[in-house]
Amino acid sequence: MKQYIWFDGEFVEFEKAKVHVLTHSLQYGSGIFEGIRAYQTDKGPAIFRLDDHLKRFFNSAKIYSIKMPFSEGEIRKAIIETMIKNKLEEAYIRPFAFYNDANIGLDVTGKKVSVIVATVPLKTYFKNKDKGISCKISSWHRINSLILPPMAKASGNYINSIIASLEAKGSGADEAILTSVEGYVAEGAAENIFMVKDGLLITPSREADILLGITRDSIIKIAENLGIETIERNIHKEELYTCDELFFAGTAAEITPIKSVDGRVIGEGKPGPITKTISDKYFDIVHGRDILFKDWLTYVKN
Ligand code: PMP
Repeated sequence: MKQYIWFDGEFVEFEKAKVHVLTHSLQYGSGIFEGIRAYQTDKGPAIFRLDDHLKRFFNSAKIYSIKMPFSEGEIRKAIIETMIKNKLEEAYIRPFAFYNDANIGLDVTGKKVSVIVATVPLKTYFKNKDKGISCKISSWHRINSLILPPMAKASGNYINSIIASLEAKGSGADEAILTSVEGYVAEGAAENIFMVKDGLLITPSREADILLGITRDSIIKIAENLGIETIERNIHKEELYTCDELFFAGTAAEITPIKSVDGRVIGEGKPGPITKTISDKYFDIVHGRDILFKDWLTYVKN
């Protein structure tokens, strides 16, 4: 099936959606993006929390003063139309806004901003997701809001994630856990983190320079619905070593149990009961099997 990318209002064949090698955002990381998932349901594909992702996309643009050439409504429509055009049942959706200008130099004044929407198949992000993954606490700290805005989903921010992830993989772990400059647990390279201790769910708050994840927010709301309290507070890294359960949460990573940190086995070294309960509920919701959170789904075909 031929696939297309929405590119500044037109559908372009997947292989033909290209830019110049000197493109500002390619050279300097000056783009902003989103990562959204669409899941199969009984009523066709449904996009999970589309409006929340759009809000964050436009907030990222605002933080970086990127003048968006399309409205939120136009990008919303483009995302739905791209899903329909590519006839995908499930997809990872990538809206991306960038300076599409090949003149060397940092100054963005007057530079053209382009927006694309791509849809790609993406099953599981981590190979051993179901059994749990191993993590290493990175020697690299998470970017701090005095240096770069962690709340914006900007391309350049991800150099921080990439170097931490590379270090973790180089030492045999599956993923990195980054701490804030203050030394508190922040998040994974592209995932928020939750730990379970004595029946409570604990996750770093925004003060730990995290990206405010939409999956994170969903989990807090799901847990509340299940009668599990979530505490947002600073977490010391040794608390991770001694917690009962630990998992990552993110659009791509979904809910990924963590079985070890720096070689310390977490709980019984396999997905714990609270992780499993929340995860089951999450997958019921994204697949449209739970009516309580039905407002989180945007059906592609009506
Ligand atoms: N933190 C970072 C750094 C991320 O890149 C992501 C993925 N977007 C997340 C957390 C999780 O956010 P979300 O649940 O909105 O995908």
